[in-house]
Amino acid sequence: MPRFGAHVSIAGGIDKAPERGRRAACDVIQIFTKSNVRWAAPPLDTETCIRFSENLRRYGVSLAFAHFSYLINLCSASSQVRRRSREALAVEMNRCAQLGLPYLVVHPGSFGDGSRRQALDQIIHGLTWAADRAATAYPGRLPTVLLETTAGRASEIGGRFEELGELLAAIGGRMEMGVCFDTCHVFAAGRPRCRMPSPLRVPSKRQHSAIGGAFRPTPAYRPRQDRPRGIPRPCQ
Ligand SMILES: [Zn+2]
Repeated sequence: MPRFGAHVSIAGGIDKAPERGRRAACDVIQIFTKSNVRWAAPPLDTETCIRFSENLRRYGVSLAFAHFSYLINLCSASSQVRRRSREALAVEMNRCAQLGLPYLVVHPGSFGDGSRRQALDQIIHGLTWAADRAATAYPGRLPTVLLETTAGRASEIGGRFEELGELLAAIGGRMEMGVCFDTCHVFAAGRPRCRMPSPLRVPSKRQHSAIGGAFRPTPAYRPRQDRPRGIPRPCQ
């Protein structure tokens, strides 16, 4: 039975999100852990993290995951934006660890006047740098980063499955990675197979192999050995 989910607001506090999900009949919710249009990330306090976890259970939300800020661009033409992006990503991975969120959806990025090859290398560097930095605070508790499929407009990375496959292959086992299959973006990229998005519709074999076998039709909750199903780790 596919699970139904939606992106829900965190207005008034992250701990309010599970109830909003339940009111919309969701089993799964996606949230921003902070304002998605600001770089600043106010620290999470322990009480809020605990209330968030308790409310997931109380309102029967079996999975919550985060979508990263729209500001970041790991392959920006600006070195300052690239630096801020990887630093913000490290912070966001730590916030996910604090909230017990097992997945973090990230847009790969879009490049300016450089080459596509250079952009891919910058994304690889940004992702691994952030994972290394975040791991010092929360070793073994970081979320799986899901690179989102994009419409592939102009210099956008991620419109071709092969690009995502290349990123995953290059990063190898250095961090936990997967793909978030955004049916809207894939349809916009010109793939009519996604004309009728369905949680049951999975990528073709060719798409699956192009991406290195990393597709998850929706971010499926796969509990790690030390994390009971449906129960996020409490904040520390
Ligand atoms: Zn997205």
